Amino acid sequence: MREKWGFSGHDNFQCDNPSVADSQTNHPRSAVFRRSFRKDFPVAIRGEGVYVWDSDGKRYLDLSGSAAVNFIGHGVPEISAAMAEQAAKLEFVHTSQFTTPVAEEYAQELLAFAGEHFRGGAVYFTCGGSEAIETALKLARQYQIEIGQPRRHQILSRHQSYHGSTLGALSVSGNKRRREMYLPMVREFPHVGMPYCYRCAFDCTDGCRNCGQQYAAELEAAIEATLAVGTHGEAAAFIFEPVSGATLGAVVPPPGYFQAVAEICCRHGVLLIADEVMTGMGRTGRNFAVEHFNIAPDILVTAKGLSSGYAPLGAVIASQKVVDAIAAGSGAFLHGFTYNAHPISLAAGRAVLRHLQTKNLIEAADSNRAGSPAAQFRQALQSLSNEDAVGDVRGIGLLWAIEFVADKSTKRPFPPAQNFAGRVAATALKRGLLVYPMQGSVDGISGDHILLAPPAIITQPQIAWSVDQLSAAIREAK
Ligand code: PLP
Repeated sequence: MREKWGFSGHDNFQCDNPSVADSQTNHPRSAVFRRSFRKDFPVAIRGEGVYVWDSDGKRYLDLSGSAAVNFIGHGVPEISAAMAEQAAKLEFVHTSQFTTPVAEEYAQELLAFAGEHFRGGAVYFTCGGSEAIETALKLARQYQIEIGQPRRHQILSRHQSYHGSTLGALSVSGNKRRREMYLPMVREFPHVGMPYCYRCAFDCTDGCRNCGQQYAAELEAAIEATLAVGTHGEAAAFIFEPVSGATLGAVVPPPGYFQAVAEICCRHGVLLIADEVMTGMGRTGRNFAVEHFNIAPDILVTAKGLSSGYAPLGAVIASQKVVDAIAAGSGAFLHGFTYNAHPISLAAGRAVLRHLQTKNLIEAADSNRAGSPAAQFRQALQSLSNEDAVGDVRGIGLLWAIEFVADKSTKRPFPPAQNFAGRVAATALKRGLLVYPMQGSVDGISGDHILLAPPAIITQPQIAWSVDQLSAAIREAK
């Protein structure tokens, strides 16, 4: 039974077991509830630029920006200075009692950064991506009630997506492995297919020029199905990652897909929620990835690069339509966390925004801009296509993935138990290179890829060194 969830026979969950030694490594067990009890974690001590150092003095090049978090580089002194200054002045007040200058000014700046479409909107600050997604889902629900649509409470989303680890965010996520065990605890909403050109469901012969319309039609059918007699409510919102994040690995949708999706949602009164937790704040070479597709979501969620990892921070950027409905209706959003709009996190986010603008880091992350670090990165990664185990190299800006296959001609994946992506990551780690391994790209279980999302300050020699190490790691993992 436990194997079903990927637990090995060695796991010991008996409550009467007093041992505090790790059964595999024999090290005394850490008091930190770590992500894995099977893995030895290096102890990180210091970060600077694209590098992180551990307690043995070993240096790692952060080619994944941790988990697509760090965009401006590690150890930027002006960010810690801004945080220290805010902490010295005012560490915290509760949002039910006060607003703060940093919140007011930063929200204005973020609205301007999000573009014309968000003029007159408002920003809700959280401590990270999952909290921001929960906020967006509840905001969409309350919006529908405020405008007299109380039957609308279904949130449609896509298979092979990831929107966070809290139960609400998990319910709209499509990541099979991350949600399976918790399914009895989550509300099930309809999921539709996600365009994935390397393994397109529509057997395209035109390089996926037209299948976007077919995927969009699937969404329309799902929205219409919620209207059928006997269903438990109608669609309130559709949530999507503009460029798929970790689950599928940097998949860029085919032309026309998101325009069709936006048109369908608008026609059916369904709010469009863009999950830009990973893709926002310049990661794809635009302020937000929706700009690549010329669409304007009603609600935009961002985190990760928002503070570049310097403090826990997420944001829900709501358009004027959504904010007006609540402001002119009940007058209050029935939602909140103690640490909303934490002044020290906001000081970090504000300093990060200023830094990435003054250093032109979004231009640096534009892979279509000749000579940019992102263009150099794209070109260097393409050379990995020659490796036997590399099936696909895909992405945009500074968000890329390499999908591995056991057989290039048939695209047959490696057996999941081989954990090929994990092996590549472990081998790369030994070589001093950090990448983000994932499994499940084919069907949620099989398929291996690594996600690459370096800080935008990466240089050509660092790119060349990383790709050399990666190429060696892929060969060694076979
Ligand atoms: N949405 C997307 C697209 C993500 O990639 C993630 C995290 O990886 C989340 C939401 C959840 O964010 P967090 O881990 O900050 O809670």
